Amino acid sequence: MLQHVNKVVILGGGSAGWMTAAAISKVFGNKLDLTLIESEAVGTVSVGEATIPQISLFNNLLGLDENEFVKKTKGTFKLGIEFANWKEKGHSYMHPFGTFGTNMDAIQFHHYWLKMFLKGDAPDLTKYSLLCQAAYKGKFCRPQAIKNSPLSSIPYAFHFDATLYAKYLREFAEARGAKRIEGKVQDVFTRSSDGFIDSLLLEDGQRINADLFIDCSGFKGLLIEQTLKTGYEDWGHWLPCDRAVAMPCKAAKENYPYTVSTAQDAGWTWRIPLQHRVGNGYVYPSRFVSDEQALETLKGQMENEPLNKPNFLKWQTGRRKQMWNKNCIAIGLSAGFIEPLESTGLHLIQTAISRLMGFFPHQGFNQVDIDVFNKQTQLEMEQIRDFIILHYKLTDREDTEFWRYVKNMDVPKGLEEKLALYATNGRIFRQDNELFDETSWLAVMHGQGLRPEGYHPLVDTFEEAEVERRLKHIESVIAKSVDTMPTQQSFIDQYCAAMAD
Ligand SMILES: Cc1cc2nc3c(=O)[nH]c(=O)nc-3n(C[C@H](O)[C@H](O)[C@H](O)COP(=O)(O)OP(=O)(O)OC[C@H]3O[C@@H](n4cnc5c(N)ncnc54)[C@H](O)[C@@H]3O)c2cc1C
Repeated sequence: MLQHVNKVVILGGGSAGWMTAAAISKVFGNKLDLTLIESEAVGTVSVGEATIPQISLFNNLLGLDENEFVKKTKGTFKLGIEFANWKEKGHSYMHPFGTFGTNMDAIQFHHYWLKMFLKGDAPDLTKYSLLCQAAYKGKFCRPQAIKNSPLSSIPYAFHFDATLYAKYLREFAEARGAKRIEGKVQDVFTRSSDGFIDSLLLEDGQRINADLFIDCSGFKGLLIEQTLKTGYEDWGHWLPCDRAVAMPCKAAKENYPYTVSTAQDAGWTWRIPLQHRVGNGYVYPSRFVSDEQALETLKGQMENEPLNKPNFLKWQTGRRKQMWNKNCIAIGLSAGFIEPLESTGLHLIQTAISRLMGFFPHQGFNQVDIDVFNKQTQLEMEQIRDFIILHYKLTDREDTEFWRYVKNMDVPKGLEEKLALYATNGRIFRQDNELFDETSWLAVMHGQGLRPEGYHPLVDTFEEAEVERRLKHIESVIAKSVDTMPTQQSFIDQYCAAMAD
């Protein structure tokens, strides 16, 4: 297995390929020979436009100037996701980044709120979230250095144009020594001694060899699956949406800093506001909805005429059994895909890259590294999967076959346990450093309609009037803070407006 890794080839130039190339070229510079192969004829999925706050860790690793990044990708800011019609038709809730209220006397905030809520005497949870209030009012600013103010913590993410993002990262990586080859891979050669990938043959006859191959070739996994036959774990019985159709349009209203996800009779549609257009898409289960019906639904709900032809996408929800197999590491859609409900696709690329940095096989391939890498990736994906399943399982909707199916399906054990913990005394714990924290679980469990029987007993050691006073204080500080924030539009105009084409 020992073989020095000097030459790395990335197959694929979608978001995964160029994010990986940008990070490797930044971290390793000219210590590695890095080549990316992509084919314009094959193309990219050209979706993946909503992110979560962890993206700023990636931007910081690259050392990007955030205003320039937003300008170049025609981006906007994102404070959370609004879920409409998920619990029931006509109902909506927000899953914000950031916290609700503030923990007091070592007890999580939501227990205080639950006490009043269960008595029928508490305002909506969103009143205790700066980000929800700002999002609903179209406000945005970066965190302010104001002591003890909710404005000092504003976790935010971005919406951006996926094609411009890949282009931006390509410029970044090429400026740092990454080489790009335009061409379609038509054959892959493996070594007879150990089955490792040896080289890729392009349609024009070039043969490209490397020590390490990073498969960013999209859903089909040209190297990890079609060549190495790694195998795939199917999660379609929990997450039946396996198709999408995407179609952008011009915005018909002011941009608000959040994504909207609207549940349909089966599946859901997204609305992602960018500076120059709105991204729209319908994620649907092929078992229940045909492509023609999906397109009709999407078009019928769009706020303006489409700017492009519909982009149909097809996948199997699940994960590759090993993301790292021999001398091939799958990053992006080739590693697996959990549907895009909580915008986790680009995040999984980013964590795979950071894991690759940690486990980089400078001195050759070690099975123990490969095993731990795969174990960590598996855990991360399963934790995210369970959080996504939560949105479907916890619903009051029974109006279509799709909703009856997801409401009544069995769910993974870990999720069952989390639901049971909350249902009794409102307990929520983040496990094994999972991506979604207590705020996220609370927002979605409450938003989807789960009501616990009780709350933390220590809350009863406070007089009810005191609990009420504390809640009112938090609500009023948040409302006043939001009043001082600029609108997202004025923030963008001041710092990061994209140039017109
Ligand atoms: C409907 C949908 C919505 C999504 N929304 C979000 C979201 O809001 N937020 C988020 O974080 N993620 C989202 N994702 C996930 C996100 O889009 C992907 O994680 C991201 O775009 C990475 O894709 P990729 O680079 O792995 O694959 P692709 O974009 O498919 O790129 C594959 C690359 O491989 C190349 N290639 C393939 N075969 C060959 C060959 N034979 N020879 C040469 N080159 C080849 C192609 O040319 C292309 O460059 C979404 C995904 C889908 C399907």
